[in-house]
Amino acid sequence: MRSLRRWKPEAQNPTSRTGFLRSLRFRLTLSYVLFFSVLLIGIGLLFQKTLQLGMDDDSRAALEEEWGAAKGYLHIEGGKPVWIADPTDPEEAYIVERLRHVYILADYNGKVLEHSQTYDSIGIDSPQEIGRILNLPMPEIHVRRDAEGVPYMIKAGYVRGDKGHPYFFALGRSIQGNERTVANFTKNYFLILPGLIFVAGLLGWALAGRAIRPLNLVAATAQEITGSNLSLRIPRRNANDELDNLIDAFNRMTVRLSESFDQIRQFSTDVSHELRTPLTAIRGQLEVALFTAEKPDQFRDAMVNALEDVEKLSSIVRALLLLSQAESGQLVLQKTRLDLGEVVADVVDQFQIPADEKNVKLTATLEPGWMANADRTQVERMISNLLSNALKYTPKGGKVHVSVHRDPEEGWIRLEVEDNGVGIPAENLPHIFDRFYRVRNAQTNYTQGLGLGLSFVSWIVSAHDGAIQVESKPGAGSRFIVRLPAAMALRESASEPATTTV
Ligand code: ADP
Repeated sequence: MRSLRRWKPEAQNPTSRTGFLRSLRFRLTLSYVLFFSVLLIGIGLLFQKTLQLGMDDDSRAALEEEWGAAKGYLHIEGGKPVWIADPTDPEEAYIVERLRHVYILADYNGKVLEHSQTYDSIGIDSPQEIGRILNLPMPEIHVRRDAEGVPYMIKAGYVRGDKGHPYFFALGRSIQGNERTVANFTKNYFLILPGLIFVAGLLGWALAGRAIRPLNLVAATAQEITGSNLSLRIPRRNANDELDNLIDAFNRMTVRLSESFDQIRQFSTDVSHELRTPLTAIRGQLEVALFTAEKPDQFRDAMVNALEDVEKLSSIVRALLLLSQAESGQLVLQKTRLDLGEVVADVVDQFQIPADEKNVKLTATLEPGWMANADRTQVERMISNLLSNALKYTPKGGKVHVSVHRDPEEGWIRLEVEDNGVGIPAENLPHIFDRFYRVRNAQTNYTQGLGLGLSFVSWIVSAHDGAIQVESKPGAGSRFIVRLPAAMALRESASEPATTTV
């Protein structure tokens, strides 16, 4: 067995033929890149959102704190805002200053009492808006932009004045820093994204190449295989994965192919040999008659002998034709209700003379009345083939026994042909029903045949929905067991179990 370790560059690169875009490697890489692109974009968007929400939460918490502080410093006395801060504490003054950076105070009717310059740029709330917010149970937080587009988070609600009157109060803080951070993240992430996808593509290309390498190997090996070069095997990777299964299946297929090719080669040799022998004989007989025969009797003898050989030739051709008809489905069975015991008895009778000539004892135990729906001609052919094999492969002084009886399984009839001839070695047994298969060893070398008889038997058995099996031991003999389905009324004369022994 020769292992293939290298392969031709043209086979290694099937893209040259299939087109780069349709190659499996390209398509695998493309799926990989698409998958990674979607994944990375998804992850980027998720991070962006999480970052934004986190920063908004921080700003909201800070705004809440400022809102609470502002309410502490702001007093409304006689309809006027008064910010109370300790003038001696510079820090407190600074805090109040900061709180008043983005703010507005308006009365219940929407009249603005005080507002910061920044709030002016954001836009003073309309009296309707003020009325709406004052009617809310809780203060509201929203985002608005100033004239330059800077975003502010604003909390708007009410505060009570000295007489308990509600006043509209809104406080804000810039969230431009948040927006910038998120924008920077997004820009940087989506800038490096093509690079990441490119690296993923390269990785995918390499992985896909690795994954389909054995496939290329299979393709390359398949290309190298020809009728005369069937010993090539693809080395296993020992990963025990799907590709190893494929390699195993491929290797088994080449083994089978190799066996078939061997059989066909052997068959051609056998057929030529089988046909040549009678042809040479005919030619010899005709030449002798032509050059040496003088009397009519001598001519007649030559013609009789030639005719016998022509008959042999026709039977070989007939067998070949029949098998090819059977296998191509052209042979239609003519099934009738048959007494198997009777049919077998007829065939056994025909084989008595050849058995006697060969000094082989042919006996039969036949129970009549076992009925089957079968084609008489084909069943006779099946029994003839089994019997002629049994006689052919049983030496002088041997025994052949045929029997028809009930199968242990209900509804089946059993036909057995048993001999004590040369037997079949165990390693050949699985193949003997293959077309053109012949066992070749010292015992069978001098027997003639084409290896077609048992393939025909096997076809006939399965065409009758039956089964065939063989038990054999080299040197001890063989037993062929055919099981056929019995016709509905199983036995015609079930009351009298008669047995014929021939
Ligand atoms: P062949 O024309 O060679 O007899 P078959 O298809 O009938 O072809 O049989 C296939 C092979 O099976 C034979 O070559 C022979 O080796 C083996 N065989 C068949 N029947 C017997 C038997 N009764 N005893 C021993 N070997 C047998």
